[in-house]
Amino acid sequence: MSDYQLYIDGEWSEAASGESFPTFNPANGEKIADIAKAGEEDTVRAIEAARRAFDEGPWPRMSGKERADLVRKYGEAIQAKADDLARLETMDGGGTIRKAMTADTMSCAGTFLKFADYAETVSDYEELPEYALMPGLPGKRNYLKYEPIGVCAQITPWNFPLIMASWKIAPAIAAGNTIVLKPASVTPITALELARIADEVGIPKGVVNVIAGPGASVGEVMAAHPMVDKVAFTGSTEVGARIMALAAPTVKKVTLELGGKSASIVTEDADFELAAKGVLFGTFFHNGQVCESGTRALVNEKIYDDFVDKLVDTAAGIKLGDPMDFATDQGPLVSDTQLKTVERYVAIGKDEGAKLATGGERPTGEAFDKGYFYEPTIFAGVDNAMKIAQEEIFGPVLSVIKVRDDAEAVKVANDSIYGLAGAVWSSDIERAQGIAEQMRTGTIWINEHHLLGPEHPFGGYKQSGIGSEMGVHGYNEYRLKKRIHVDDNLNPAEHMTFMMLFS
Ligand code: NAD
Repeated sequence: MSDYQLYIDGEWSEAASGESFPTFNPANGEKIADIAKAGEEDTVRAIEAARRAFDEGPWPRMSGKERADLVRKYGEAIQAKADDLARLETMDGGGTIRKAMTADTMSCAGTFLKFADYAETVSDYEELPEYALMPGLPGKRNYLKYEPIGVCAQITPWNFPLIMASWKIAPAIAAGNTIVLKPASVTPITALELARIADEVGIPKGVVNVIAGPGASVGEVMAAHPMVDKVAFTGSTEVGARIMALAAPTVKKVTLELGGKSASIVTEDADFELAAKGVLFGTFFHNGQVCESGTRALVNEKIYDDFVDKLVDTAAGIKLGDPMDFATDQGPLVSDTQLKTVERYVAIGKDEGAKLATGGERPTGEAFDKGYFYEPTIFAGVDNAMKIAQEEIFGPVLSVIKVRDDAEAVKVANDSIYGLAGAVWSSDIERAQGIAEQMRTGTIWINEHHLLGPEHPFGGYKQSGIGSEMGVHGYNEYRLKKRIHVDDNLNPAEHMTFMMLFS
């Protein structure tokens, strides 16, 4: 029997094929658990369960307050299990226990709690201006009624399994939808734990279904199935485009949160210490396996050389090691595949003529022998046309690019197919805002990085995505708007519109 089964229609089951797959700890290569491997039959069963729960079950028919009570209980149960979830997240994904305890579990629970609030406080009704056929005629009441979309297929990546799953499940169910969620196959455990918690807190059966399995089969069935009304995907731009194509024939609603190659602009008046630490935090937090990582630093030429030295000195203080140790700053990359991708891009960077300022190797020593560790790596002398500046590496690699002035910084920042996020490091807030407002991306921090919150929408420009998650804007991505026009005049002769048909 698998250690983790599929959660469909409120029941745990093996895959119809009886197949399972292992998941490993990237810090030491040891197997953690066997996971039931969903195939097409299981996926369709999960979609049908979600469809029944939406069409016939209580969930979409409950009041916002009733749903809020259960979603809040869900968030509180996650809080109560935070230590266990943090340990599992660290073992399965390789991020540090410090990150898991201070960011992953808190943010996951906080997302459920915030969307419980929205279910209760964000109205399902909105008044529109009255409709008057002609100036001077009496206006008729018009209003919107917001309604859940239906069955939502949700597909998540491996970099923040708990947070990504919470960003999908919480807004969808708070708004009254039912879901089928598929986590990434390298980090499936904590999403399945979230299914267990859904069951424990009494979310009605069929509302939350979680199945692990390959993207190319399970994910494709989810994106194309006619019973699915919306697909919410977070992952690479390449797969996002494929999902859009699969969803197109049945015109599903689609939200896509995709890749990035965000720029951190450093002006010559920036606080040196703050900017150096900030750029490194922006890049190396969670080994750079973060969609909004600031992997291109665009530094004013007046401070460029000194700033590169400062980055190199400060990066030397980043402590690699056992992710279960609270003192560790950086654990292993998620998988051997990801490690090989990083090694390939570092070789490309050297071939392209960028100067390797630090890193560029796997660390040596017994502690690192069995895991997928890689040194924080900084390339100086990078031209924005190079592959290492254009392509998403999703690893601990920073490209530092010299710019003449703010105008060139903005131009270089915007010279990317991506537009997810970015940062400006400057002591002059007005100047920083001027730069931020010219950057073609969905989120910009001024003298900060990585701060995402349940009340603040997050989404990409350009090939970084469609739509947004989080905040009331993200909540509304899970609601349809119905316009209702109300005419209380029951006399046909006074309905001037009828003139268009009856003479
Ligand atoms: P990925 O695109 O390879 O996989 C993401 C998910 O899609 C996984 O669950 C995978 O199994 C599934 N999948 C793969 N092929 C599929 C297919 N053909 N049809 C349907 N589903 C399929 O991405 P990844 O390697 O897991 O994650 C890294 C990527 O995610 C990076 O590009 C990163 O920038 C992006 N990301 C974006 C955000 C954001 O909010 N914008 C957040 C986190 C990660």
